[in-house]
Amino acid sequence: MTADFLIVGQGVAGSVLAWILDQRGCSVILADDPNLPSASAVAAGIVNPLTGRKLVRTWKADELFPFLHQFYSGIEQTLGVRFFHPKTIYRPFRSVREQTDYLALTADPAIRQYVSESADNQSYSQFIQNPFGGLEVTQAGWLDLTEFVRVIKGYFVRKNQYFEGRITADDLHIKADKVGWKDIDFTKVIFCDGVQSRENPLFNWLPYNPVKGQILTAIAEGYSIKNIVNQGVFILPVREGLIRIGATYSWHDLDWQTTDDGRSFLESKVREILKIPYQIVNQQAGIRPSTKDRRPFIGLHPEHPAVGIFGGMGTKGVSLAPYLAEQFSRYLLDGEDLESEANISRCVSL
Ligand SMILES: Cc1cc2nc3c(=O)[nH]c(=O)nc-3n(C[C@H](O)[C@H](O)[C@H](O)COP(=O)(O)OP(=O)(O)OC[C@H]3O[C@@H](n4cnc5c(N)ncnc54)[C@H](O)[C@@H]3O)c2cc1C
Repeated sequence: MTADFLIVGQGVAGSVLAWILDQRGCSVILADDPNLPSASAVAAGIVNPLTGRKLVRTWKADELFPFLHQFYSGIEQTLGVRFFHPKTIYRPFRSVREQTDYLALTADPAIRQYVSESADNQSYSQFIQNPFGGLEVTQAGWLDLTEFVRVIKGYFVRKNQYFEGRITADDLHIKADKVGWKDIDFTKVIFCDGVQSRENPLFNWLPYNPVKGQILTAIAEGYSIKNIVNQGVFILPVREGLIRIGATYSWHDLDWQTTDDGRSFLESKVREILKIPYQIVNQQAGIRPSTKDRRPFIGLHPEHPAVGIFGGMGTKGVSLAPYLAEQFSRYLLDGEDLESEANISRCVSL
């Protein structure tokens, strides 16, 4: 038997790539081991073109953001489902100084295109501390990752093109022009195994710099703000009265365990902005597949051209995956160029 692609790993990266290749008419088997941890199962799924205290534009934002909005809503329309929620991100100013600084930053047209003309500050003030007002970042939103992964899994299960279980390099018969797995010969195998790639002998030479993150889920009775709020931490309204609060960043103790310190940190930050009481109902931890140069790892293995990787999505998998998977599919199927900053060929001399 033959098939075009075996995709190993179904977080956001594997889901998006498998969908795009399937829609191009390729035969795709999507595989995932539910016993392994997944960053996508923990992540808030926020897409945000302007990040950090300095409103830094996300890498390639002008390409990524129009594309991702079209991509996720396109799947929703095709399958008659809902998992993508376009929202603005409200950023209350901490002081008059910050208000002045931010207004100066938004004078730059490259930044201004992602900021609302004016924010309805009053609509937030019942729940959020905002004595100095705030600004709203547009073209933002969140992807319900649990639902997205469930829907994409269902799509491939129905086509009988899903494998539940682990696939390692040892299970593969790698040749120059194909890869055998069980009784199927694939044209290519693409690893979308997230941070587990560090244990994958085919790709463990790539310079990862994983970042642990923690996130809380809380009940906040009556909280009815529909947009995401961000000041040091984000408050993401999942539905009325239910919020997610995140996230922490830690480069040590890289395990998937929650900690009291993580919870205390998030609580201390959220108490600064949230005016109403809340009750924590869940705490989760995950490891982001970040890289040393903060660019994704995409491309084919330098010695085994039938094996590839689509990973290193770091803190922004939901924003990066659609545009870059589309580009990777054109590279694989049409011989087009890959974004050089994302291509793993940049690491080969290492
Ligand atoms: C607390 C926290 C908050 C975050 N918030 C956001 C956010 O708001 N927005 C955003 O864009 N990103 C966010 N991120 C980052 C986001 O989680 C990652 O960018 C993204 O999930 C990476 O996706 P991935 O598919 O590459 O990896 P994963 O989601 O980790 O998926 C890898 C999959 O591969 C499977 N797998 C691995 N090895 C094998 C194998 N050998 N065989 C079979 N299956 C295998 C695993 O089971 C897993 O399902 C957050 C992360 C954390 C921890």
